[in-house]
Amino acid sequence: MLAIDLASKVALITGASRGIGRSIALTFAQCGAKVAVNYAQSEADARSLVQEIETLGGEAFPVQGSVSEPAEVRRICEQVGQKYGKIDILVNNAGITSRKGIEELAYGELEKTMQVNLLGAFYSVKEVLPFMLPTQSGVIINIASTGAYTGGGGGPHYAASKSALIGFTRNLARSLGPKGIRTNVLAPTLIVTDFLKSLYPSPEDQHKLILQVPLRRLGYPEDVAYLAAFLASDLGSFINGQVIILDGGRTYA
Ligand code: NAP
Repeated sequence: MLAIDLASKVALITGASRGIGRSIALTFAQCGAKVAVNYAQSEADARSLVQEIETLGGEAFPVQGSVSEPAEVRRICEQVGQKYGKIDILVNNAGITSRKGIEELAYGELEKTMQVNLLGAFYSVKEVLPFMLPTQSGVIINIASTGAYTGGGGGPHYAASKSALIGFTRNLARSLGPKGIRTNVLAPTLIVTDFLKSLYPSPEDQHKLILQVPLRRLGYPEDVAYLAAFLASDLGSFINGQVIILDGGRTYA
């Protein structure tokens, strides 16, 4: 039987305490990977995820640190290296937004968003490369957003950060591909998480969103996680430099 096999792989998932990152970490563990569950603040959530993975017979550990700080990212990667000896897969999932137009956006808010959504990915890639380059193998998955194309997802700060993440990814695909490292983007929209609820708190708003989706439903974290697992596995070994949209047909259908 064909299955997604991540056995013997070590994966670092940033922002894995909640939402999409949590689901990716759980799914990767279910596919056999050892998982480093990064979080910034939600320690209890990260620990409960690790416990859930262990109960299912998998291996995981929580690793605190903000991706917006290069020194913390270096420490995170060192901790994963000490624990598991390598890093095969990096998922740059940690991300923030706020619902603000250009008029309301204060100076500094663009920088803060960039610091997590773009620079966090940049620092993480820099710090995992010493693990990937010696073996000439690795997988990097960056979580962007359809907001990179539509301008949605909160405001100009968010859309700019996710557009930049796509350009960053395409360069990595060209430069790291010859070194055996594949880099791709998943661009979801309307995935039911705290993030979405912060943008659209009312049930009425959420109902209106459903009507924008040809499949007439919102997305779930598992919708992203299953594709991430496929991409991270050898089944996705010819996929590099792509942006794969998960939106039920909302953006272009
Ligand atoms: P979420 O439910 O708000 O969870 C965000 C996660 O990121 C949390 O685990 C949080 O950890 C972590 N995080 C935030 N800042 C961090 C930092 N500086 N360092 C490390 N971790 C940090 O968000 P989500 O909906 O799952 O979103 C995950 C990713 O998908 C984001 O990149 C987002 O832009 C993208 N996305 C989401 C949607 C959607 O509809 N939900 C659509 C398109 C794209 P703590 O709780 O510990 O702070």
